This record gives sequence, C-alpha cells and structure tokens, in this order.
Amino acid sequence: MTYNIDEKIQRRLSKEIRVGNVSVGGNSLISVQSMTNTLTSDIDSTVAQIDELHKEGADIVRVSCPDEESTNALKQIVDSSPVPIVADIHFHYKRALEAADAGASCLRINPGNIGSSKIKEVIQAAKLNNISMRIGVNAGSLDESLLKKYNEPCSDALVESALQNIELLERNKFDEFKISVKASNIYTTVSSYEKLSKLCNYPLHLGLTEAGTYLGGSIKSSIGIGKLLSQGIGDTIRVSLTADPIEEVKIGFEILKSLNLRSKGIKIISCPSCARQAFPVIETVKTLEKRLTHITKPLTLSIIGCVVNGPGEAMNSDIGVTGGGKNTNMIYLSGVADHKISNSEIVDHVVKLVEEKVRLLND
Ligand code: SF4
Repeated sequence: MTYNIDEKIQRRLSKEIRVGNVSVGGNSLISVQSMTNTLTSDIDSTVAQIDELHKEGADIVRVSCPDEESTNALKQIVDSSPVPIVADIHFHYKRALEAADAGASCLRINPGNIGSSKIKEVIQAAKLNNISMRIGVNAGSLDESLLKKYNEPCSDALVESALQNIELLERNKFDEFKISVKASNIYTTVSSYEKLSKLCNYPLHLGLTEAGTYLGGSIKSSIGIGKLLSQGIGDTIRVSLTADPIEEVKIGFEILKSLNLRSKGIKIISCPSCARQAFPVIETVKTLEKRLTHITKPLTLSIIGCVVNGPGEAMNSDIGVTGGGKNTNMIYLSGVADHKISNSEIVDHVVKLVEEKVRLLND
C-alpha cells in the first residue's frame, strides 16, 4: 500500500531550483536536510558522517566552512559525498568564493553578517560555478538597521530582511536561490514563513533555528514545520537539534510521513496500550521498530493491543496485528483477517511478513 498525498494540502507554487542533482521547489519531493557537526577539516570523519546521513535518507547535507582549512577540505568531501553539499558561510565572503570553487552545490549565506557589497562577489561566484544559494535570515543575526526599526527580531523584520536580499540577488540577475526565515520561537518562525510565502515564489527552506534538545526540539520543530507544511508552505526542511544529526533526518522524515507528504520505510500505527492489551504492545513495537530499520519501502504496519481499534486500523494497513484473547492474535494482510498467532511469535512473524512483502514489491 502506498500513501496518498493528502489532497487537502495544496502546495504553494514555488520556483524550482537545483541543489546539485536534487530539485528543490516546484513539484519536487520535499527534501530532508541535515548538517555535519564534525570538524570540516577532518575529511574522513566528515565524509563518514555524510555517508551515515545519506544512509538515513538525507537528500542534502550542509557542511560548515568557518575557515580556509575547511574550504580546502571541501573539494575532497564533495568528491566523496553521495549527496549534494551545501557550504555554510558566515562572516567571511572569501570562504563562499572558495567553497564555490571547491564544488559545493549551494552556498548558504546569512546576508546580515556578510555585508551587501561582498554579496555581489558571492553571487558572481555562484553564477560562474552554476550553483544555487540559500538566503538564510536568522532572528539572532539580523541587520542592525532592521533591529532598530522594529525593536526586536519580529516576523516583519525577518521578512523585510529576506525581501531586501531577494531584491539584491535579483538586481544582480540571480534567481537560483531558496530562502529561510528562522527564529527559535515557533510563532515568529511560522508567521515569517507565512508572510514571505505570499510575497515571493522562491522555494522555502523550513526550520526553526536553535530548536533545542532531542525531545523539546523535535516537538517544537514538528509543530512549527508541520503547521507550515500542512498549509502547503515549504519545499525542503531541516530539523535543527542539539543531538546526533542522524536524529534530525529521522525526525524530518517522521514529520513528512505524518503529513503523508513523503513515504519512507515502515509507518507504524500503534495504540498506547492499556489493561485490555492481549500482548505487551510497547515492548513489541519497540523491538519491531529496531528490527525493521533496514526497510526503506513504504509500508504501513498496525500493532494494536485488542479488538477495540485493531480491526479498524488493520483495514488501512499493509500488515496488521490485533491482540486477541487467549494468545490468539489476528494477523491482517492488506486489510483482511488472515491467520492467528501466539504472543511469542509476533515479532519474528511480523518481521518475516514485512520482508516477504518487500521482496514481492521489488520483484
Ligand atoms: S486498542 Fe485496546 S489495548 Fe490498545 S489502548 Fe485501545 S483499548 Fe487498550
């Protein structure tokens, strides 16, 4: 069973740009991004982390280029990377020029800390190397003049900064870029993207900046990014977490899967369990989740503790388990009750069924 894009979500029509071999905007899939946290000059560790992120499904990876050592390492990193690399540049426009020459697919700049005269040279480098850019406006590093005008980094200030930079790039005849307007506050972030989405058609890179720890940041990001995506706003996402970047990719995909905007691997539908559960639902789901991480085909699996909700959820799943009395749990295949199994058989049996289903889909 494949997921249907929820027809109620009408995506905002955005311009399509390229980040290496990945399209962003237009009708492209909403891409998932993350960022390395290794020392960029440590080429082996950086490439290893990019490989891990790619295995987890990341479409695009950003690499920080704080110094010349990093941009020197970038060529080798780009050559070894299975995904397009975005060079993250702050303060030093020369790093952007070096990153463009090193083969980065996109330059992420924060115009507020580069300066408008130097941006022209950066635009020139992007044009010469035929690569895209991201204007990354952040609440924490807005232009002094905008902070003075608005007194605080509110959504109007972020949007005005984005519009100023759009104008600057357009004046320099460059339109191969995407934009982000991030704050750590959900309301400011959402409102900034909502306003900007009505004022231009450039693709939008969604995210909250400094979202926080694994749990808090994931929840904040899911609310903020999810609210925007559910309105059809957003073309690529990054969940910023104070955690292993692999988790950012996992959460990013979970957000897209929850909104039926993208499918990848197993989507588990499970109940919270209660006194009616006929088998230990929580432990079973935890084990299955671990045992099924290798599955990348989109499949829906419902694991429900009893008949209250089990048959209903199983009807909309590829494979369903519904707890039954006396160690007789019902297995549903493509929504139809098929056979019964005991509690101790559930995990191995479901793994086998999923793997068989994947084999059939691949044939
Ligand atoms: S489906 Fe059954 S076991 Fe699961 S929470 Fe509901 S009533 Fe409890």
